[in-house]
Amino acid sequence: MSAAPLPRIAVVGNPNTGKSTLFNALTGLRQRVGNYPGVTVARKSGTCDLGGGRLVELIDLPGLYSLAAVSPDERVVIDVLLGRIPGEAPPDLVLVVCDATNLLRNCFLAAQIAELGLPAVLAVNQADVARERGIEIDIPLLAGRLGTAVALVSAWKGEGIADVRRTLLRGLDQRPVLRRSEWPEAIAAALAEVAAAARDATGRDIPPALAQRFLFDSAPTLAESAGWAAPAREPALRAARDRVRRAGLNPPAAEPLIHYARLRRDLEGVVRGTGRESRSAAVDRILLHRVLGPVCFAVFMLGLFWSVFALAKGPMEWILAGVDGLKALAAPSLEGMPMAQSLVTDGILGGVGAFLVFLPQIAFLFLLVGLLEDSGYMARAAFIMDRLFGWCGLNGKSFVPLLSGFACAIPGILSTRTIEDPKARLATAFAVPFMSCSARFPVYALMCAAFIGPQHGALWESVAMVGMHLVGLLFAVPIAFILTRVVLRVRPAPFVLELPRYQLPKVKDVLWRVWQSVWEFIQKAGTIIFALTIVVWALSYFPRDEALAERARAVAVAKGADPAAADAAAAAAQVENSWMGRMGKSIQPVFDPAGFDWKLTVGVLASFPAREVIVSTLGITYALGEETGADSESLYAAMREARWTEGPRAGTAIFTLPTVLALMVFFALCSQCGSTIVTLARETGGWKWAGISFATMTTLAWLAAVAVYQVGTALMS
Ligand code: GDP
Repeated sequence: MSAAPLPRIAVVGNPNTGKSTLFNALTGLRQRVGNYPGVTVARKSGTCDLGGGRLVELIDLPGLYSLAAVSPDERVVIDVLLGRIPGEAPPDLVLVVCDATNLLRNCFLAAQIAELGLPAVLAVNQADVARERGIEIDIPLLAGRLGTAVALVSAWKGEGIADVRRTLLRGLDQRPVLRRSEWPEAIAAALAEVAAAARDATGRDIPPALAQRFLFDSAPTLAESAGWAAPAREPALRAARDRVRRAGLNPPAAEPLIHYARLRRDLEGVVRGTGRESRSAAVDRILLHRVLGPVCFAVFMLGLFWSVFALAKGPMEWILAGVDGLKALAAPSLEGMPMAQSLVTDGILGGVGAFLVFLPQIAFLFLLVGLLEDSGYMARAAFIMDRLFGWCGLNGKSFVPLLSGFACAIPGILSTRTIEDPKARLATAFAVPFMSCSARFPVYALMCAAFIGPQHGALWESVAMVGMHLVGLLFAVPIAFILTRVVLRVRPAPFVLELPRYQLPKVKDVLWRVWQSVWEFIQKAGTIIFALTIVVWALSYFPRDEALAERARAVAVAKGADPAAADAAAAAAQVENSWMGRMGKSIQPVFDPAGFDWKLTVGVLASFPAREVIVSTLGITYALGEETGADSESLYAAMREARWTEGPRAGTAIFTLPTVLALMVFFALCSQCGSTIVTLARETGGWKWAGISFATMTTLAWLAAVAVYQVGTALMS
């Protein structure tokens, strides 16, 4: 069935006004996510019934403070509004979402949208918060002053949604345009000059709103994308700006000056009640305190990891028991087929099981971080981090990508798109992979569970965890400093971050996000980890040399070993002789100064495509070679038993505290993720920075691991 296209309504607003919440409330589950052509900004749209079967298409645009379009996200907004997206007409109506507690500033964007001349209506959201703070808004008066329909709504509570629908209907039927500011004569003349010059140069009509952007914005992004190249543009803009200056106005400041003066008049008497100090502000006096703030942050993080361990302990034991049960079930039915038996029990179940065991920890980590994020605390954490690290030259907006990097570098790198300055953006994208992503978590967790926890207790386990999460930051900060200040020479930009109010997290939303990441983790286990596990298994199973195994068995028996120990010695000889064993041994000298034996070297090598693979690789190399029985602790025990067989350290334990720490530090810093490298290359427009990132991170990881091992060993001897 092909119906006439639905009327299209673009939803715009400042970040954190509740735009997405309102969009979700209006469209429910009828949403589609895609990409805008040519850029990788997500395009979210959905269908909404305005009542009586009048369907419209809502387009949720990226949040922005101003149309001064510098970042790719912001450019998309202006392209959509001006109808410059190929194959898309301008929207039929714009819904401007404002925050009721911050009406004046939010109306600045509305004033810029007014200049577009598109029909527009307003939704004043967060009505519940305004009410709680004693702020009253005279909606009819506001509607009259702005010349359009306005709805008061609380998207989060679901109050006033019907009113928004009615307002949208009126907007579509009456097509009201927002009242515009009056430009002083000099600016009006300058705008006309700019529009004419741009039209002459590009051969296309330039809408007044676009001419304003050319005149007022210092970044030439929009002019470039309109095809108005520098040689023609620069003299024309210089002349127009000079004209504005001669009238006593400063071109970049003129726009806010004029809009705000008019908006202040328009809002007079509309907003009543100054607003009591909110509870959030009171709480922030402690949590954002110069000294107490970072202390609270550290305590929260320690508590977070401690709870993750405590909560995950039980479920991890169930998973281990389940995997062991499966092994016990599978082994007898494959009796007589040693290769298939080894593939299933040691390869697949051992490898994938060793990885899946960390599922509960990942789930609880995401749950607790999600709760903190939804409560509004994570934005404070970003603020504290900015105060601690702002000096290093990272753009204030870098902290959100860096924080996302703690979950996964890929969304972190993608979210650097909100940073206007391309150099600051590059520096941030470069720093993101240093953040300790959730794929490093299983590596730390394995080391902590096998060594730090049993030997030093739960507190040190949490300290090690927090410490490992800080290692990357510790390196990223000076690197960012050098990159921004010395190599790229970024101009520092002020940090503007909206601090959301504290609120009770919506458990349903958080659980949904936890499920998504858990599902992603399970899918990874089922696909990439599964495949790499089989590759690693095959490399460590072939070639078989029965004679060699028999000799090893005979030697063990001669030394008085029982049959199980003799079997283990035979299996160990096979692994050592395998392709993997040979590869590990030939490269081991490189990692010897970090205290890694050939099995750890194998683990490190196998982990370059995806670092989580180390866990399953160690599961395979250790369980195959030194099977210590089917008890759930077999891998931990095998690692604890591991000894150097030759060289000056012969007979001593491989996994000493310095080795364990060196291994964790190596994984904290090394670039071991194919997807990150590809994303970095795509986002920085070439392989150069991806290559530099790989080389820097891997070299640093090696140096740091060697330093930790050497210093640690010296201190302990
Ligand atoms: P966006 O950045 O504009 O898309 O904002 P979101 O929809 O992500 O909302 C930002 C935050 O404000 C979220 O924590 C929402 O739960 C919260 N929020 C949104 N609308 C309301 C509202 O009407 N009242 C209250 N109290 N919170 C809201």
